[in-house]
Amino acid sequence: MIKEILPNFFQIRVPLPRNPLGHLNAYLIKSFEKNLLIDTGLNSPEAFEVLCHDLSEIGVELQMLTDILFTHFHIDHIGMIPRFKQLSKNHNLWIHHTEKELLSSIVKDFSNYLDSMKRFLEASDAPATLVNNLQKFHPAFFTPEAYEEIARTAHPLIDGQKISLGDYHFQVLWTPGHSPGHICLYEPYFKVLISGDHILPTITPHVSQFMADTNPLKDYLKSLRKVESLDVKLVLPAHEKSFMNLSERVKQLRNHHKQRLKEVLNHLSVESLSPYNLASKIQWNVNYKSWNNFPPFQKYLALGETMSHLTFLEKRGLVKRVFSHQKILYEI
Ligand SMILES: [Zn+2]
Ligand SMILES: [Zn+2]
Repeated sequence: MIKEILPNFFQIRVPLPRNPLGHLNAYLIKSFEKNLLIDTGLNSPEAFEVLCHDLSEIGVELQMLTDILFTHFHIDHIGMIPRFKQLSKNHNLWIHHTEKELLSSIVKDFSNYLDSMKRFLEASDAPATLVNNLQKFHPAFFTPEAYEEIARTAHPLIDGQKISLGDYHFQVLWTPGHSPGHICLYEPYFKVLISGDHILPTITPHVSQFMADTNPLKDYLKSLRKVESLDVKLVLPAHEKSFMNLSERVKQLRNHHKQRLKEVLNHLSVESLSPYNLASKIQWNVNYKSWNNFPPFQKYLALGETMSHLTFLEKRGLVKRVFSHQKILYEI
């Protein structure tokens, strides 16, 4: 489905098969010299067919794409890249330099990446079934070619960089949190914000921690402040529908995390808990009867989200980490 947002500026709805998000919004900006695609979709034949069909309807065949930019490295945004590569060699890839560096270190040693994630899960008290099956349910291990292609060929973007096409002049806004090198694109004259997964209209973007020495929730809240007061008429997210009330939505998201932090503190005021046990007690906004019904990937995401909140509280001195029988427990 194609929607013309502004002249020569299109939103393309790309299906995400077997993914609860339903679809990805890719954006195409057409100009005399360049055709820029923002985000792609998963590596699926069905999604690729839709995207190629819609591009063709707009008058941009695959070979005519000159630039492909990714808001961040998640697989629903970059996964289709190996398919593009087979059919066209004319485009440049663009991603924030932090994502490029992250992907470069992952592809240099995929087994080390897997091991470090497993160690992190083990320390969080995740059960062996979850730890040992990580590569079976984690999408990062489904399309390593996409990671490799971006690590090898993408041009690195920096915060504040300008991207001009025809009448449009975008500013790159580095908004870490949902991923370390997430970016939004802001067009100040037309007052539009391509928000990627940083801000979605009803879903709360996932903010998780799977690497030691990071504080993604602190980054995310700071990145909310960065976009909150921009003069924006229309927000163009990577999932769900376009929306208008940016500052109101930012308030809701901030409030959601405040409530979740309170919930974590409430549980820890009763007893010391490992991150995994705490994750199983949190009220997640999902359609599963109980924690035991969560599929492995949902448990993994819930654990990452719990960790980001625990780390945020720990860095503020509100909870502390203790070791008991070789397990990490958090307490007040
Ligand atoms: Zn994402
Ligand atoms: Zn996404």
